[in-house]
Amino acid sequence: MKVYNTLTRRKEEFVPLEEGKVKMYVCGPTVYNLIHIGNARPMIVFDTVRRYFEYKGYEVNFVSNFTDVDDKIIKKAIEEGVSANEISQRYIAECKKDMEGMNVKPATKHPLATEEICGMIEMISDLIDKGYAYEKNGTVYFRTRKFEEYGKLSHKNLDDLQSGGRSLLVTGEDEKEDSLDFVLWKPKKEGEPAWESPWCDGRPGWHIECSVMSKKYLGEQIDIHAGGEDLVFPHHENEIAQSEAANGKEFAKYWLHNAFLNIDNHKMSKSLGNFRTVREIGEKYDLQVLRFFMLSAHYRSPLNFSAALMESSANGLERILTAVANLKHLLGVVSEENMTAEEREQVKETENFVRAYEEAMEDDFNTADAIASIFDLVKFANTTTSAQSSKEYLQTLYDLIVKLSDVLGLIVEKEEEMLAEDIEALIEERQAARKERNFQRADEIRDELLKKGIILEDTREGVKWKKA
Ligand SMILES: [Zn+2]
Repeated sequence: MKVYNTLTRRKEEFVPLEEGKVKMYVCGPTVYNLIHIGNARPMIVFDTVRRYFEYKGYEVNFVSNFTDVDDKIIKKAIEEGVSANEISQRYIAECKKDMEGMNVKPATKHPLATEEICGMIEMISDLIDKGYAYEKNGTVYFRTRKFEEYGKLSHKNLDDLQSGGRSLLVTGEDEKEDSLDFVLWKPKKEGEPAWESPWCDGRPGWHIECSVMSKKYLGEQIDIHAGGEDLVFPHHENEIAQSEAANGKEFAKYWLHNAFLNIDNHKMSKSLGNFRTVREIGEKYDLQVLRFFMLSAHYRSPLNFSAALMESSANGLERILTAVANLKHLLGVVSEENMTAEEREQVKETENFVRAYEEAMEDDFNTADAIASIFDLVKFANTTTSAQSSKEYLQTLYDLIVKLSDVLGLIVEKEEEMLAEDIEALIEERQAARKERNFQRADEIRDELLKKGIILEDTREGVKWKKA
């Protein structure tokens, strides 16, 4: 399997550190708002990478953090007059809903920065002991020039950075030994969340968070570190410096980065006001369409979001859904059980589509070509099946389309209608949860039913339900 490594700027054969296992870390969002579709791209792309490794039989330990302490979170908390914790908890819950809608699997572990402060203090202390960091008036800085390989990921030259850095030096940072040095720990300001440390009450810098969470949950060396290309510099460059200085080992073997997402050929930006949240897209489309759209381009190519492209994605996905639904329908009406000799030959032909699909995915996760192979298979299914087909043949094609789509995280089986007795049972459970004041569970059940098109109404005679 070939993966493009930002570190070496070429496609490399993937060789895991430990046979049969993949240790993978993906930088997660800062939770101060509903996630936008720019956040959604790495979530969908690297979830697909994970799924493909799993399809190949690897055991994937997939860690993705939530940055739950940050200037933007604090700003929002002040605006709303609530705690920073309330803001981050709220948007973590919202983010998880969106991830579920996009069929992004929960990570093996979703660590929260605020729960890992001890580890951060430990690593910062270690870096000070090793001479890679120093404290000035409560702030701890990383001594960038001391880490000789600094710049190896972003392919930047320290002296170029230096000349740029001097003009960027902000007030309060003139105490740094060098303009290239970056913050590991900073003192609290009035009203900000803070933790005790050997240097001052304060909070960690953003970069140290990922170094620490990756080490704790995956170990000192990992196979893949991934994120959006905007994270290459300085975030990932700084993570490498911290982790490799502290651990004395190569941090990650492969660095994967997805390209930008533009909207109607413009960069998403506050000033253009063209931010689109996943929630907004979800009001108009099934989020499976968004997923299909994201995978319809190679992850290292810039992707342009537009209504027209979303429409064509909706049509593309529908083609697969229709083929699967047709196969299901035929399965219910045909009588012949076993495959004929001719059908057996046809099944052999489908191996070509599977091979093309795998070749695409093994060439640095070319999901666009993988989707094209699914389309070929769909076309083949449409033209080689009829009411005269055998159940065995129909089922084989059905299973194959579902399986290959599932590796891309695309759900192509239409949901079965819920039975009335199952609905009643859930309503009863919800009533019991409410009695115990477990409103979270009660809401979950309501949402679960809503997703299946069942609307609940609280009436004087009790809870009634109807189909949407
Ligand atoms: Zn990170």
